[in-house]
Amino acid sequence: MRIAMIGTGYVGLVSGACFADFGHSVTCVDKDSSKIDGLHAGVMPIWEPGLEALVKANAERGRLTFTTDVVEGVEEAEAVFIAVGTPARRGDGHADLTYVFEAVRELAKVIKPGKVVVTKSTVPVGTGDKIEEILRQEGMTDVSVASNPEFLREGAAIADFKHPDRIVVGAEDGRAEEVLKEIYRPLFLNRAPILITGRRTAELTKYAANAFLAVKISFINEIADLCEAVDADVQDVARGIGLDNRIGPKFLHAGPGYGGSCFPKDTVALLQTADGAGVEQRIVATTVAVNDDRKNKMVERIEKALGGNVGGKRIGILGLAFKPNTDDMREAPSIPIVKGLVERGASVSAFDPVARHQAEPLLSGIEFADDAYAAADGADAVVIVTEWDEFRALDLERVAASLRGKILIDLRNVYDRSDAEAAGLTYYGIGRGRLQDA
Ligand code: NAD
Repeated sequence: MRIAMIGTGYVGLVSGACFADFGHSVTCVDKDSSKIDGLHAGVMPIWEPGLEALVKANAERGRLTFTTDVVEGVEEAEAVFIAVGTPARRGDGHADLTYVFEAVRELAKVIKPGKVVVTKSTVPVGTGDKIEEILRQEGMTDVSVASNPEFLREGAAIADFKHPDRIVVGAEDGRAEEVLKEIYRPLFLNRAPILITGRRTAELTKYAANAFLAVKISFINEIADLCEAVDADVQDVARGIGLDNRIGPKFLHAGPGYGGSCFPKDTVALLQTADGAGVEQRIVATTVAVNDDRKNKMVERIEKALGGNVGGKRIGILGLAFKPNTDDMREAPSIPIVKGLVERGASVSAFDPVARHQAEPLLSGIEFADDAYAAADGADAVVIVTEWDEFRALDLERVAASLRGKILIDLRNVYDRSDAEAAGLTYYGIGRGRLQDA
């Protein structure tokens, strides 16, 4: 199959490289010429485990090419995937479909009749209908429009793409269904479940999935607050409920609140869809409010551990990316934490294994350290914000020796209190017994 992928970001590049690895011939298109120039020179625009090797191998085989020219990408393609960003629109939180519609107008001029346009971007219910309308306006009627939402997780994107829990295809005609089944045939042979639905159902399925995961996270975060009030341990509660097959163990890690490029914007966009449809979604609305509140309150937690005031204090921050194994800083909990600390007069020294280049433009007035121990050096407290593997095996005695204040605030519950205390640290986790004042 010849495939064009419009948008070569976290989703487009991973999907394009994986499709090429399945044996398809893929052209990745992006209007950002620096990304395309970089890819031609073998430089990845994002940090994602395994991506560089996969891209290079398939580019060398001639199955994966890059261009800024939509004509070159789309002209010969049997399927054109749209994987451009759908950020939250300023003001109301609706999914901003400007990039999607712009891409459709561009591809409409070159796509051949009988081909398929597929939205891989997360788009609200009804977007496929609007895409059909734009294609009609541009004089292109014989093109199928399908929805194929993407469920990959940054940090495990290639494995997720190649071994998905399911593939959802929303198609309104046999042609779109056949083309997508053919594209995903290697996974189908691997027994990945393919769910064929109506297009609107597929569009909504993606939002429902992200909203449900966000609910799970906020739920355990609120249970963590309750644990702190009644002297219980949220880690054990999470395990105790997660072992129940009806609940499942994933997304039950209490922490500083969810961030990233998807959950925050997708939950809010779902609420906008519901509002437009005149249907209340009280659970998701509460989840959004609980999470926003939580992210902002993390600074108070740090303040409390430091005796009520961080002014003049030095804080080491471990981890800036919104989660481990990515350099993505979009909506990362580290942003309100670091900004809040700086606003309150603290000095911050932060270390992240890969996200520094993305974090620097977002976080002014702080120092960036070269490793975890350097971030802790001379600090009054060290705060684990992102649970990178390398922060799971720190030499806590060395951390304690570098620190001035001997306080470890573990917002990801990476350590056991007893280990931290044995190393001479005062430990503050999330939801692990009654919160003591400093
Ligand atoms: P991204 O910002 O990393 O990439 C989008 C790319 O599209 C950018 O490189 C941009 O330059 C390019 N672009 C925009 N308009 C274009 C046009 N007209 N022609 C060519 N290129 C254009 O975004 P992302 O994180 O890959 O997300 C893409 C979509 O996938 C979003 O809808 C997102 O919600 C969804 N999604 C993301 C993830 C994730 O983990 N990042 C997971 C599942 C779904």
